[in-house]
Amino acid sequence: MINDYNAFAGNERDIASSLETRRSGSLRRRQTRITPSKHSAARGRELQPHPTELRRSSTVLSAMNVELLRSSEDRDFIYPALRYAGTGLSKFPSFRREAQTDKISKMNTTNKSVLIILTVAMFAMTSCGGTSEKKGTPTKEQTNVVEQERFIPPFDADSAYNFVRRQVDFGPRVPNTPAAKACAEYLVGTLSRFCDTVVTQAFKTYSFDRTILDGQNIIGSFNPDRQKRIFLAAHWDSRPFADNDPDPNNHKTPILGANDGASGVGVLLEIARQMALARPEVGVDIIFFDVEDYGAPQDAQNQESDTWGLGAQHWAKTPHAPAYKASFGILLDMVGDHQAQFPIEAFSNYYANKIVKKVWDMAEQIGYGDYFPKTEGAAITDDHYYINKIANIPTVNIIHLRPDSKNGSFVDYWHTLKDDISNISPETLKVVGEVVLNVVYKE
Ligand SMILES: [Zn+2]
Repeated sequence: MINDYNAFAGNERDIASSLETRRSGSLRRRQTRITPSKHSAARGRELQPHPTELRRSSTVLSAMNVELLRSSEDRDFIYPALRYAGTGLSKFPSFRREAQTDKISKMNTTNKSVLIILTVAMFAMTSCGGTSEKKGTPTKEQTNVVEQERFIPPFDADSAYNFVRRQVDFGPRVPNTPAAKACAEYLVGTLSRFCDTVVTQAFKTYSFDRTILDGQNIIGSFNPDRQKRIFLAAHWDSRPFADNDPDPNNHKTPILGANDGASGVGVLLEIARQMALARPEVGVDIIFFDVEDYGAPQDAQNQESDTWGLGAQHWAKTPHAPAYKASFGILLDMVGDHQAQFPIEAFSNYYANKIVKKVWDMAEQIGYGDYFPKTEGAAITDDHYYINKIANIPTVNIIHLRPDSKNGSFVDYWHTLKDDISNISPETLKVVGEVVLNVVYKE
């Protein structure tokens, strides 16, 4: 992706002034807000399923996730979530996560309708000062409060980090290379273990220098028949040139793209793993775009911005499913840095203002407002730009912007050989993953 300073030429918006107003002040981080990566396991232990329920759920899970359990690599991460799924709580959209946890764990019943009634009734009792006199149907207001607190799956930071590392271990994922082919197989195989369906979309495209590239978009879907859909996306390729590297000798060397590429995919693989264990209400498509980062290098003659996001351009013109529709999309790019901050990217604000509000409000609500400042940042030519423009699906980009860096847009190691795994913070991946999970599971 690249900073597009001319993006809004001719529009009412003045990008230059927004560039000046965005993100003044230091990078305040809310380290104390981040729970340790084993937080999810700890919370899973609070919920002790009734033995009958566990057996029943195990049957369902063994059919659904037998491949998950066979993988020794993921077993430690899956187990806590399995315990969650064993409670059947994933089917309780109106479950009050915090306040009712202890009460539910003590119950011996497994009947879902009884649980729902009790949950509502307990809330009604509490709000009446503990007296059990006032029975009957809860008021509309009471029901609404219960419904707002939905079950959100945990997000395991270590698991997400591991998904990032696995991609980086293939080396640079540059189109037309064996490393890209191997990584594509890994991504298809991993998504296949989690999603209901996986579709690959092979395409040929020309790069800025007229090289013919073999691209492959990879799409994993949950609830494929559900009409209401959301898509979550990241690019899985890495840049073929370190054209921002301080050493000119490296300018033609491909980069590892740990942050620029692999971080977004890693977060989405962990989200997919969680969704396999506790389905969202809506349909979800997880899309890994290829050939995002083959745009013209800084010293190239051809500087047309449309040399970026070639996989997304292909998908936006010919989606993986006929007449594909989604309510909105969320793109993740460069979401793994230790000091990440995600101001509102300007194209997102322009094309998908309502979704910006939804996502940034959610971040604030769950305590990550410092990571998601509500100030407008630069306009970035990234995959979401083409989806907004060509496919007309409102799509936001959660992307780490650093206007104070040497390149004026992104972290200093952007498009350099230093974009490696040392820059990836499991805690940051978790912040982003939790925001996305909250948005999706509250739809
Ligand atoms: Zn890039």
